[in-house]
Order: sequence, then C-alpha cells, then structure tokens
Amino acid sequence: MPPRHPLSLVKFGLRALWPARALAKAVFRGEPARAAFAGIAAHSILPLDAPLSAAFGVTLGANAHASGWPVAKGGSQRFMDALASYFQSLDGEIQTGWEVKTLDEVPAPIVLCDVTPRQLLRIAGERLPAGYRRQLERFRHGPGVFKIDYALSDPIPWTAAAVARAGTVHLGGTLDEIAASEAAANRGRISDRPYVLLVQASRFDPSRAPAGKHTAWAYCHVPHNAEVDMTAAIDAQIERFAPGFRDCVLARATKTAPQMELWNANYIGGDINGGVQDALQHYTRPVPRLNPYATPVKGLYFCSSSTPPGGGVHGMCGWHAATRALKG
Ligand SMILES: Cc1cc2nc3c(=O)[nH]c(=O)nc-3n(C[C@H](O)[C@H](O)[C@H](O)COP(=O)(O)OP(=O)(O)OC[C@H]3O[C@@H](n4cnc5c(N)ncnc54)[C@H](O)[C@@H]3O)c2cc1C
Repeated sequence: MPPRHPLSLVKFGLRALWPARALAKAVFRGEPARAAFAGIAAHSILPLDAPLSAAFGVTLGANAHASGWPVAKGGSQRFMDALASYFQSLDGEIQTGWEVKTLDEVPAPIVLCDVTPRQLLRIAGERLPAGYRRQLERFRHGPGVFKIDYALSDPIPWTAAAVARAGTVHLGGTLDEIAASEAAANRGRISDRPYVLLVQASRFDPSRAPAGKHTAWAYCHVPHNAEVDMTAAIDAQIERFAPGFRDCVLARATKTAPQMELWNANYIGGDINGGVQDALQHYTRPVPRLNPYATPVKGLYFCSSSTPPGGGVHGMCGWHAATRALKG
C-alpha cells in the first residue's frame, strides 16, 4: 500500500538515517533539547554516532508528541492478560511454564518461534540447512542492561518539578554525556555516569504500590553479558537529579545482564532488543532474506524482535510473521 504522506515519509527517512548526535546538533540549538533527543535516541542501545541511531529518537519522539508514552493501569501484564483472554475466547489454548527444548515438542503444521537465532539453532538446529545455520550463527547481539526495581517510601524528590509529571525519565545530563555512556557500553567499557532510563508508574497508578508508598524501576546499558553490579552508579545518577532519593529507598531487587538472560532466555547477554539494531542488521534481521520471518523449514517461522522492525513492544514482528505464515 502506498504511504498516505509520502513527503513526510521521505523527510522522516532522511533524518532517521543520521547519527543521533549529529542530528541533535544540526537541528537543536539549546543543550536541553539536544539532551532530551539523546535520551530518546539512546533507546536504540547504539552508539549515538552510529548511522540510523537518530531513527529511534525521531520515531519515539514523534510518538511522545502524538500520544505520550503511556503506562498500563495495573502493569504491563494487563496487556498480556487482555490478549490471552481474547485468544481464549476464540478457543485458543495457552500453555506456560514449559521451556521448549526441541521442535519435536510442538508438532504443528505452522510454528511461530518467539526466540532469537541462537535459541532457534538450539531448538531446530538439526532441521535447518547448513547454509542457513551459518547465517544464524553470524547474528550479532548488543550490550545488555543492568536493572533495578525499587520499593520507595515516597515519590522521587526530583529537583526539576516537571520531571514528577513524566512516566518515563531519561537521566544523563547532556547530549555528550549520554553519547559517552552509550559509546562505552558498545565498546565493552563501564560508564561511571551511565545514561539511566527510569519509569515511575506509581506516580500515576496507585495500584503499583501499597497505599502511601511508591515503586520505580531503572536500567542502564552495560557491555554484552557484563557481570558488573551498577547499583551504586544508578543510585548516584538518580540522587544527582533528585537529592534525598537514597533516603526514600526501602528495598532494591537487581539483575545483572547475565541474570536478565536467566530471567528471559530471549535477552541474550542482557540484550533486550533481540540483537544489535545497527544500519546493517536493521535490514537483515535475522538473516538477509526477502521474507525474513520464514525459515527454510516449511511451516517454521521467526516472530521475535530478532526480525523487522526489531526490539520493542509494538507487536509488529508477530503481526508480520503471522501474516506471512497465513499466506503460506
Ligand atoms: C525492563 C525493560 C523495559 C522495557 N521497556 C520497553 C518499553 O518501554 N517500550 C518498548 O517498546 N520496549 C521495551 N522493552 C523491550 C521489549 O520488552 C523487548 O524488546 C521485547 O519484549 C522483545 O520481544 P520478543 O517477542 O522478541 O521477546 P519477549 O517479549 O521477551 O518474548 C519471548 C518469550 O518467549 C519465552 N521463551 C524463550 N525461549 C523459550 C523456550 N525455549 N520455550 C518456551 N518459551 C520461551 C520467553 O520466556 C519470553 O516469555 C523493555 C525491556 C525491558 C527488559
């Protein structure tokens, strides 16, 4: 279907190709706007000097302008509950708590695998032709995340009052500081002042915490599979913009990058994007193929964030995979 606004699409495409730092400097004059753009673009988990890193800033920034970045009342699980209940209303059956180790466990004419190439190699490796297996083996994973869940006695005491009105907060100071943090994670180095992505949902949804109390979660990017504990660095970044924060912390639950993978097998080395999403792999995930969702095995499809359009909870990987699978 031709795009409804081709000129806007071309304008978007030309900006999206830029490295985020260069675009921020070209388009914005003030440091606050540059830093805000860097915080959004850093969702890419790419160095901000990499081509296409601006795409994340432009897309997510437009999204924020158009509809904001909402959080689900009661938690994101509510989306899964709603989808599951619709599926069950169509007589669908769901089984959980079962790690599929081999394709033989799912004898069905069509199987959509919500896994990364590395996992598919384990599950279906023997059935895949050698050439395709080699292509999957070349798939690259990126930096991981170190995550903290906080139980808080009070709302976070931000110095800038407006920050209290944001569901998602990016902490990083300046464009160059955020760029340095993301470059470090991508080069295998630990940043003392990491870019921190924080969500404070209990400010807007009281069901997220016991009465009168609060919760928040935060993560920063770390080198792939790094065992490093970033608790002190993340606490310090929050304290920097919200003096008194540490006194509000009742408890913390932390996960290193390898622990993220233990929690969810798709987060290889802590990479929550299902593989690096740089200019090369953006268009060739999981392998360079006209139909990237199909595999050479009849009826076997990829539907995870290792396929286009990549990481995130947009659901488009699954939608495209299902559409292709139905076409056969
Ligand atoms: C803390 C955090 C915050 C995030 N925030 C955002 C956000 O605000 N916006 C956004 O767009 N994205 C966000 N993301 C990223 C987003 O969640 C991921 O990019 C996305 O969920 C990946 O989708 P997926 O389908 O590839 O895998 P997943 O959603 O991880 O689903 C894969 C599922 O398959 C299961 N599985 C794997 N292997 C097997 C097996 N062998 N047998 C059975 N089951 C298996 C896994 O347990 C998992 O349940 C966030 C991620 C994290 C960790």
